[in-house]
Amino acid sequence: MDRYAEGEPTPRQPKGRAGEDGSRGSSANRGSARDKSMSDDAARDGSPGQNADRDGSLGSTDDGRSANGRCARCGMKVDADERGPCDRCGLKVRAKELIAPDTPEIPERWSRVYEAICAAPNPRMTERWLREGATPRILTDVATSVAPVTHGVLDSYQEHDAADYVRYMLVRGGVLERRDEGLERVRRWVFRHLRTVRDARNRQTVKEFWSNHVGPNVAAADEAATRQLGTVRAKRKVRGAVDFLVWLEHRGLGLHELRQMHVNEWLRRGSQANDVASFVMWAGTQGYCVRVRVPTAEDLLRLDDDVERYWNMVDRFLDDEGLDVADRVAACLVLLYGRRTEEIASLTSREVIVDGSEVRMTFDGVTVALVPSLAGLMVRLMRGEGAHGGTTTPDDRRSLFGGPWYREHITPFRLAERLSEHGLGGVADLMTRKNTDGSPE
Ligand SMILES: [Zn+2]
Repeated sequence: MDRYAEGEPTPRQPKGRAGEDGSRGSSANRGSARDKSMSDDAARDGSPGQNADRDGSLGSTDDGRSANGRCARCGMKVDADERGPCDRCGLKVRAKELIAPDTPEIPERWSRVYEAICAAPNPRMTERWLREGATPRILTDVATSVAPVTHGVLDSYQEHDAADYVRYMLVRGGVLERRDEGLERVRRWVFRHLRTVRDARNRQTVKEFWSNHVGPNVAAADEAATRQLGTVRAKRKVRGAVDFLVWLEHRGLGLHELRQMHVNEWLRRGSQANDVASFVMWAGTQGYCVRVRVPTAEDLLRLDDDVERYWNMVDRFLDDEGLDVADRVAACLVLLYGRRTEEIASLTSREVIVDGSEVRMTFDGVTVALVPSLAGLMVRLMRGEGAHGGTTTPDDRRSLFGGPWYREHITPFRLAERLSEHGLGGVADLMTRKNTDGSPE
């Protein structure tokens, strides 16, 4: 699960070793060269003990080396065996080298970034960030660039961790506006996922779908729980769009050639109506394809915009032990997998594969893994729990929705009636998928 916590990126040890980057970066390497000369000086000066013994006056070497157990720049006490300036002063020197390598003063525009870096709570760790990996190169690049610094510029670096660290400093220093980084992580996921789409126009369409429709919904959810659900659903919508377009590409069809029969065929393969519905409906309103209809659990429940109510309903059927197990399983197959009671009522044990704790089901020849909590309910149903569970049919298949009171399978109509009583929607809607004209398929 992705994390969306804002704030300082977790300080990880940068992958590259010190100096590795220097050959590529312009001024990023200067610090390393300076280090070397500092340690050479230190070697000539003799052992640390000599300086520590000379008590009294502060050492006053130009480069801030400690002469007597104190930092020559600020007078702070440092460990006797430390040969450089204190951690805080070391960080200041390093920050100046990277932000303003060619000028004596920090430019006005960058002074707050400089201060933000120098005020870091752990100067030693921050200084290491500014010495290793791609961070120093990126910071110097953006600080010395004549082009304006934008989030987009930082996004263009391949080294995401390092670029995010620089971004964090630039936001704190007021050079960049704070951005919704949780949303950005989803956006990056979307763009990576898009690579499976071959056609450039299709990729562009999904990008628009993301930026005009899916992304704004994620951005609008500011509470953590809503944000998490919104993110899960956003990814499902994009994945649904991508899978659908890839399928069309395999058939040699452009989006503009899409007809209702293709959508129906796609759904008959066992694909999830919920996952592709919003893309196809959005594309229809944007004129990318004719308007087609995809019956989903959401519009069955008239829950198009009410994500929370939808998930509350799912949770209720997954968790409420007061409800009949068969009703709970059937309701979840409607809500999570977009199935209708005509199909659900005829399910037998033959369509269920129990494999350890995983339960897979086959709908129209396509196998899906059930979400874990539903898998548990399915196993209970197969063991005969529930008002109409576990009847063995004459041909020795175990019907999932048969039962002692029914003598035969429960009918799709009766199952739809039961679910309708639980608030899942109209009986007719629950029984069969509809075409655009409202007639059964
Ligand atoms: Zn100092």
